[in-house]
Amino acid sequence: MPADQLAERLTALRADYEDLQAKGLELDLTRGKPGADQLDLSEGLLSLPTGHRDRSGADVRNYGGLEGLTEIREVFADLLGVDTAQVVAGGNSSLTMMYQVVTWLLLHGAPDSPRPWSQEEKVTFVCPVPGYDRHFTMLAELGIDMVTVPMHDDGPDVPAVRALVADDPSVKGMWLVPTYANPTGAVCSTEVAADLMAMPTAAPDFRILWDNAYVVHHLTDVETKSADALGLASASGHPNRPIMFASTSKITFAGAGVAALAASPENKAWYLKRLSYAAIGPDKVNQLRHVEFFGDADGVRAHMRKHRDLIAPKFAAVQEALSARLDGLGVATWSQPVGGYFVDLNVMDGTAARVVQLAKEAGIALTPAGSAFPYGNDPDDRNIRLAPTFPALAEVEAAMAGVAVCVELAAVEKLTAPVVE
Ligand code: PMP
Repeated sequence: MPADQLAERLTALRADYEDLQAKGLELDLTRGKPGADQLDLSEGLLSLPTGHRDRSGADVRNYGGLEGLTEIREVFADLLGVDTAQVVAGGNSSLTMMYQVVTWLLLHGAPDSPRPWSQEEKVTFVCPVPGYDRHFTMLAELGIDMVTVPMHDDGPDVPAVRALVADDPSVKGMWLVPTYANPTGAVCSTEVAADLMAMPTAAPDFRILWDNAYVVHHLTDVETKSADALGLASASGHPNRPIMFASTSKITFAGAGVAALAASPENKAWYLKRLSYAAIGPDKVNQLRHVEFFGDADGVRAHMRKHRDLIAPKFAAVQEALSARLDGLGVATWSQPVGGYFVDLNVMDGTAARVVQLAKEAGIALTPAGSAFPYGNDPDDRNIRLAPTFPALAEVEAAMAGVAVCVELAAVEKLTAPVVE
């Protein structure tokens, strides 16, 4: 656009932005939380369990049963495509299980570690970006260094990962959200998963923390299966490489679900051993409640279709609002996820922080720019994670129409700003 047209456009956008501010919105697209209508789908849990005993006859109200009820482990095994024997069912948070694993690796090392990770000069994790902010803040908290690789539509950039892990034994681990990744929605292909499980690593105890938080969170009627991480790892001679995590946080109650870990026999025994010093058993009442509520894995799948019906229109509203204003302008691209909880928006380089600020000043809270990168550092200042599930549909529509104004305004501001030498 020639300069005079850009200047005109800037004037028009400022007027649009003033109109937006005048609406006095108070909207929040920051966190991937289920909406109240989604939580209502699981209200039946509150009057369960009807029984006190699990299949083995144990009274679930009492202590014990560290690896969790067999019945709920069977459900997770089916959903995750692993054997029941590989699964531990725990408390409400898979993030806590990940934190335990990383902490115990630092304190004790893995069965195949030369020494506890904390005794290494440095420990480094490979982080596909954009990624889940809490993965990165956890590592920062624990003093683990992070290096990034690009996340593509079929998973992490394998040559980039290979180059990082091949010669440097300080590179001990990697995060991966394999299905409907947070925030890009990417699904890791079997080919990429197979390469990651088979690749040579300088560290003998390299771990891939396979966080399958969105394994059954389809937004369309295509119910994509996750790559078989444990099977691929075993087949390539690295059975201990992946540790898998999942939970019902975005299936039932985000704050009162059941989490699970699945791993090789050696990893599982290692985890349970460490856990035995920290707990006598999980909340088996809640586990039984979930088993009674769902019956089996197909019960979970049917339940997820009800979630889909509630949230798919919100994701469609995000697409419509962005397309309506931004299609063809060349100032932004965004993901069109078929599952998960997020839309990943890339605005013009150097404007993401400005977009978030403009949105905030118009009453629309967005996740801080850079959150999806280690240390909050998006080198291109272009990435913004949108989380449309929590607000009502009309609020998503209003918020996203506003975000689109902010995206275009920030771009035109940048294009018209005097160049500072
Ligand atoms: N992993 C990912 C990728 C997530 O997006 C989330 C929730 N935002 C979690 C884990 C948290 O899981 P949990 O509630 O089981 O701790």
